[in-house]
Amino acid sequence: MMRVLFSTNAIDDRVRRTLVDTLYSQPASLAIGAACGILTSLVAAHQSRNGYITIAAIMLTAVALVRVGMGLMLPRVVDNRTRMLELLYELGAFSYAILIGVIAALTVLVDAPHEAQLLMVSNAIGYGVAISARNAGRPAIAIGQMVLTLIPICLALLKRGDVALITLAFSIFLLLPAMTSVTLNVFRVLRNSIAAAETSARLAERMQVLARTDVVTGLLNRAGLNHHLVERLMALPPDRKLALCWMDLDRFKEVNDTLGHQTGDRLLSQVGERLCKLAPEGASVGRFGGDEFIVAFEAQDRREIEEIGLRIREAINRPMRVDGGRLEITGSMGIAVLPDDGQDIETLMQGADLALYHAKVNGRNQVSFFDPSMTRDLVRRKEIEAELRLALQRNELSIYFQPIVDLETGRIRSFEALVRWFHPEKGELRPDEFIPVAEECGAIITLGNWITAQAAKAAAQWPEDVTIAVNLSPLQIKAPGAALGILAALRDAGLPPHRLELEITETVLLDHSQNTENFMAELGAAGGRFALDDFGTGYSSLGYLHKYPFGKIKVDRSFVSGVNVGKKSDAIIRAVSGMGQTLGMSIVAEGLETIEQVEAVREAGCTLGQGYYFSRAVPDYVAAMLLSQERYSLKPQRLAS
Ligand code: C2E
Ligand code: CA
Ligand code: CA
Repeated sequence: MMRVLFSTNAIDDRVRRTLVDTLYSQPASLAIGAACGILTSLVAAHQSRNGYITIAAIMLTAVALVRVGMGLMLPRVVDNRTRMLELLYELGAFSYAILIGVIAALTVLVDAPHEAQLLMVSNAIGYGVAISARNAGRPAIAIGQMVLTLIPICLALLKRGDVALITLAFSIFLLLPAMTSVTLNVFRVLRNSIAAAETSARLAERMQVLARTDVVTGLLNRAGLNHHLVERLMALPPDRKLALCWMDLDRFKEVNDTLGHQTGDRLLSQVGERLCKLAPEGASVGRFGGDEFIVAFEAQDRREIEEIGLRIREAINRPMRVDGGRLEITGSMGIAVLPDDGQDIETLMQGADLALYHAKVNGRNQVSFFDPSMTRDLVRRKEIEAELRLALQRNELSIYFQPIVDLETGRIRSFEALVRWFHPEKGELRPDEFIPVAEECGAIITLGNWITAQAAKAAAQWPEDVTIAVNLSPLQIKAPGAALGILAALRDAGLPPHRLELEITETVLLDHSQNTENFMAELGAAGGRFALDDFGTGYSSLGYLHKYPFGKIKVDRSFVSGVNVGKKSDAIIRAVSGMGQTLGMSIVAEGLETIEQVEAVREAGCTLGQGYYFSRAVPDYVAAMLLSQERYSLKPQRLAS
């Protein structure tokens, strides 16, 4: 029994709290008990006219009133302080119990009028028995109260020595073990059922946490984020803003592909850790699947939001140690702000997603805020995407040709094929606008094949020493069977592979993909040639020039006519030309618009030139005309413009 009584101290806090709550859970029964106690003891005091009984009755009245007051007030005032509640209850309960017992005992001892004795003794026995059931949630209190109430009566009855009274004392005494056993039984049932309910509640809580957690990073998952965001929105003070930062790791797929998924997962979890460290306190941080993360937080204004966004991006850019290796990764971020960009979570998400898309398109590793113009851009992109597939069938696309000229002789050595789209409503669309869309939606493969076939057909009509240059998108090169497709197009057109030059940009080579190497090896073996396009705009790594079979470097037009022009660009062109000479490559200067530029790049060592100074891109029949004019006139002359 003692074990059960005191083992209750070892029970779980939450179960204990619920059990203690049962003490306070029925203030009505407490009040009724108190009212009966006050009434009976005052009546007994009045009838017995005994000083001690009167004092005890007054004390009981006071204790009863205080207890009722406490019963109503305490659970609210000392919330969460179970032990304190229990102690206060104990104090009140024990004083009340002993007073009831003592008053009843006194009426017996002083032989008060029989009615008063009957009133008090029966009231005390009733109280003692009832309390042992009522307070079974805390058995030590229940049994203590019962003992304190009944023992004084037993002693008083025994002291009177009458047989009937001794018998009564004896039967009251027997009540003690009987009721104790009842109390303990009730307690066990109560405790076990509360514990079971607690366990299942905790299990449900745990399941809910799991359902809202991302296993890889331990951050919130999509469901968890949604839940958090809705709560945040509801609690957002009117003068605060809610920022939603949507982050996407640049080129994470390459990490996964080259180093494996496990390393990828560890990288993700490190990113998660950094985000948690850097996000403002109380921010919701989650992973939205793949390599996308969300950080949502409250802020005062957009400046604060931008600062935090930039800080997060910088932290992600710092190299990470994963599996003993050093990994560098960058992240792009799109931010939308509530209430500026939308009033609900869904709009905010769309805004952040669009802003992220812009950050990526603008060259990655950027932080961009949502702007309504992004919605318009997206609509246009969607239109282009939808119409691009039809454009080929409707004959809206054509290939134009821009000459590439020998800077020594002024003769056309080659033409670059540039695609044009004449849209019936939108007018002429620039390839800069629709090629990226075609790359994104995969249409570039069909489009690219068509361009190569058309360009080859046109070139087959030209003199044999004139080559054709075709731009290739990274996706085209990585597509399975890419080299075979191009060779088939050349065969169909009757153009020998050595007259085709493929212009590729450095980005294709960045990931060191086996597909790219195979592609270049296959085409190279068949006689095809390669030019490194837009040199100077990216990493401009000279390592690629050794590794891959480039015959030509095209120096980007920004070095000729753009912001980079000056002493420095001149020095770069000279260095590249020098290297070209050593490696046996020709150097093309792009974007030549004036005679001064032509002179400058020739002086700097470029062998070939391309630009409006010589000619814009022209339709195939004009290209053919330029060639025949050149070959049948004696003096080199300026071409069409
Ligand atoms: P790119 O390969 O660098 O092509 C050269 C671009 O510079 C062409 O623009 C050309 O019209 C322009 N350009 C030539 N000379 C001058 C000049 O003197 N001044 C100025 N300001 N610009 C000049 P275009 O045709 O609009 O093409 C833009 C880009 O679109 C190309 O850049 C290329 O990356 C892509 N592109 C064009 N056609 C194709 C294609 O058939 N396939 C693929 N994959 N991409 C293409
Ligand atoms: Ca090009
Ligand atoms: Ca170029």
